Amino acid sequence: MLRGSVDGQGSITLSKSSIHGTFKILMDKRRIVIVGGVAGGASAATRARRMNESAEIVLFEKDEHVSFANCGLPYHIGGEIEKRSKLLVATAEFLRKRFKIDVRVKHRVTSIDRENKRVMVENLQTGTVHAVEYDKLILSPGARAALPSIEGVRAKNVLTLRNLEDMDRIKAIVDSGIAQHAVVVGSGFIGLEMIEQLVIRGLKTTLIERSSSVMPMLDSEMSDPIRAELQANGVAIRFNSTLEKLELNQDGLAETAVLSDGNRIEADLIIIGIGVQSNSELASDAGLELGESGAIATNAYMQTRDPDIYAVGDAAEYTYGPTESPARVAMAGPANRSGRLAGQHAATDHSDKMQPVQGTAIVRVFGLTAGVTGLTARTAKKHGISVRHATVVSKNHAGYYPNAQPMTLKLTYSPTSGQILGCQVVGGEGCDKRLDVVSTAMHFSGSVRQLGGLDLAYAPPFGAAKDPVHLAAFVATNDLDGIESFCEAGADLSSRSVLDVRTAAEVESKPLVGPTDRLVHIPVDELRDRISELGEPDPKVVWVVTCAVGIRGHLACRILTQKGHKVENLSGGATVRKRAWRE
Ligand code: FAD
Repeated sequence: MLRGSVDGQGSITLSKSSIHGTFKILMDKRRIVIVGGVAGGASAATRARRMNESAEIVLFEKDEHVSFANCGLPYHIGGEIEKRSKLLVATAEFLRKRFKIDVRVKHRVTSIDRENKRVMVENLQTGTVHAVEYDKLILSPGARAALPSIEGVRAKNVLTLRNLEDMDRIKAIVDSGIAQHAVVVGSGFIGLEMIEQLVIRGLKTTLIERSSSVMPMLDSEMSDPIRAELQANGVAIRFNSTLEKLELNQDGLAETAVLSDGNRIEADLIIIGIGVQSNSELASDAGLELGESGAIATNAYMQTRDPDIYAVGDAAEYTYGPTESPARVAMAGPANRSGRLAGQHAATDHSDKMQPVQGTAIVRVFGLTAGVTGLTARTAKKHGISVRHATVVSKNHAGYYPNAQPMTLKLTYSPTSGQILGCQVVGGEGCDKRLDVVSTAMHFSGSVRQLGGLDLAYAPPFGAAKDPVHLAAFVATNDLDGIESFCEAGADLSSRSVLDVRTAAEVESKPLVGPTDRLVHIPVDELRDRISELGEPDPKVVWVVTCAVGIRGHLACRILTQKGHKVENLSGGATVRKRAWRE
């Protein structure tokens, strides 16, 4: 049923009742001003228009383009996206014509006057500054690439990648053919995407990484295959080192990267990919609260502490699902969703709440894919959250069907409730699907037990009757039910008794890495007959059982447990141990 009312200012409010509640259709002439015209800003503007045809919507963008595909930038440099125009998802003209949005590019919002509800805007072409009043203000100014404060960092061939202009500069250097050697600093998502594309373009590339593994957002044994893939594609990696300074040539261009470990690397192009900082100054200068992350504090409707001002995207904080605390998650999905939501709320005073964000992210690095959602061992430790992990090495589809590709999946869950708290995945095809399945289960507060019961699509070209997601859930459930105990893949085994149940050929070709106190080898198929070789069960001795990936280890553990031995299955077997073990 549709009801109507007119207030003192002549605004018409129509209310439509449905089983989901009362949805207000506001038809007033409120002015919605939006700062930033890309992921969050453009989503906010178009949703606001679809919700309120009468509103005046003004969008300010300091650069030349609105609504471009940041995420596609590396792939135009590499040539996979051939046409630059493909990156322009919606032009200013399109937004004006189709959505009646007053788009003003090359206009920078310089300050917010909350008392008088207006923003000061600088026209970057004329240099003039004028005030624009708002009823609702949506801030989506994004983030900027972090730069180390070191000598030489401002040289013209030292670049970050954030927008089309950055992309054009990098591409011009690569296209010129002058650059032979690139240095990429940082192995986050953008750093890795750039490395891949630079190598494809024929540049000899060196990665400088501050930590001891690539992709520090993953646990090291999960990112190790990415390290190997980079090196297999000719990328040199300098671990545990930072960029100390850049020495310039006579033309003022950087030519030598000097590292903290004293090494010097000749380079023609230096890409800095060490993370981003939120553009939150407009908000903080206006007295709006920032969160601990430095991004703007918001509520579930993306409102700042001033209810007429919203903040979305990389400049804003969301609720981080696994900890239920505020966090900045600088990714395109949440930016688009929060923009859409704030656009509706600003236009109608009504919207759904922003759902918690898990930090789901994925990257392709040559032939491999790696991704993460929620907590890892590292981040759980940082947050002081007690977790357990189940790691499985499996195939993306039935092994008997051609071209099955290996995948390692690490599931993180609560040791008490079994709630899923995170997932990391690395491997070939199909990693994206598993990550999204687990992320979806997490979104609905699913447990590992429920994950093991998911009814997933299966035919041999697509998956397995027991999908990698199921296998990880089964391992986790066995752990919670006390059916099996696990030993961490990278554990110190120098004082442990270890039983390797692989075949002799496997043991010879891929020996278990790291020292053990005692290492016994009995293939699993002979274990029942040769169990006496382990001696009588001794409550003081907990055998660590290993195989290639943990499956035969599981059977061996079950045999031994039922004969009275104490056992732990080595998580992910010798394969994952090789990635995890550090001397
Ligand atoms: P932006 O999209 O950065 O837009 C902010 C805009 O505000 C900018 O255009 C800026 O010029 C403008 N602005 C700033 N201040 C002002 C001002 N004072 N006045 C007027 N205008 C202003 N995320 C993923 O999820 N997956 C990916 O694969 C992925 N790949 C990426 C690859 C690259 C190279 C980059 C740079 C980012 C990638 N991201 C990816 C991140 C994703 O693009 C961002 O999370 C998303 O764009 C954030 O949206 P936003 O609206 O907050 O900011």
